[in-house]
Amino acid sequence: MSSSTDGTLTGQYVGRFAPSPTGPLHFGSLVTALASFLDARHHDGRWLLRIEDLDPPRESPDAPARIMSQLDAHGLHWDGDVLFQSQQLSAYDLNLTHLRERGLTFPCKCSRKSIRGVYPGTCRSRHFENTDPPYAERLLTRGPPVGFDDLILGRHTFQADKDFGDFIVRRKDGLTAYQLAVVVDDEFQGVTHVVRGSDLLTSTPMQVVLARLLHFRTPQYAHIPVVLGSTGDKLSKQTHAPPVEETSALSTLRLALQVLGQPESPGTSVESLLSDAITSWDITRVPRSSFLM
Ligand SMILES: [Zn+2]
Repeated sequence: MSSSTDGTLTGQYVGRFAPSPTGPLHFGSLVTALASFLDARHHDGRWLLRIEDLDPPRESPDAPARIMSQLDAHGLHWDGDVLFQSQQLSAYDLNLTHLRERGLTFPCKCSRKSIRGVYPGTCRSRHFENTDPPYAERLLTRGPPVGFDDLILGRHTFQADKDFGDFIVRRKDGLTAYQLAVVVDDEFQGVTHVVRGSDLLTSTPMQVVLARLLHFRTPQYAHIPVVLGSTGDKLSKQTHAPPVEETSALSTLRLALQVLGQPESPGTSVESLLSDAITSWDITRVPRSSFLM
């Protein structure tokens, strides 16, 4: 494994699919899983599964087993053991401590309601020793613009103070914030390529900042179009998107390939369809704009 000058990995490809277990997979999440799977397999890479179970109140206890059953039925077999974020808490704490000891985080007692738009740095001069819990912990963001080259969406550049500000790395309720957990896990799992929905594009610069501060390798990113329901909202549990059914895997996969701009396959089984799709996968054919169902 070697790094290019911008810290992007070269060498063995490692991809991952990282759903939150808030419910079963719907069509939009299956499209994401398929895209990351095909990109990994086309590059003879490994494809890992991570269950992002960091927010118990939002989660469904049955969801992890159902998600795995749905992936299996669609032929999306992952490599190795499933990583659960709930097993990673000490790794998150350790990395948060590294940041804190370097003076890169500060306590924040602002309420969510009091902040409109980008956090203006209200609590930057607050000190941990003079701050009673509960408080959130924010990353002190400074420095030059953060840029990355997305494999689908091209070059993107973000400005910390205008685009995301001092973001939360540990929540007021003590839970590790999503951005930090993802970065620690991607490094832990050796992930080289992150293929995910474009709704997460605005999270990417925060993750790039964290990875650099923690001296981790920055993965290559590819953001695929979000699948929208007929009302124009992203398919999600909140918009009551139905789960993908194990029994209609073949037709679901055909539609998902269409959404991803990939050629039709004559395959009449999940296995043969996927085998064709792996061979013919071409990320440059993935459309850049969202797909309306
Ligand atoms: Zn604050």
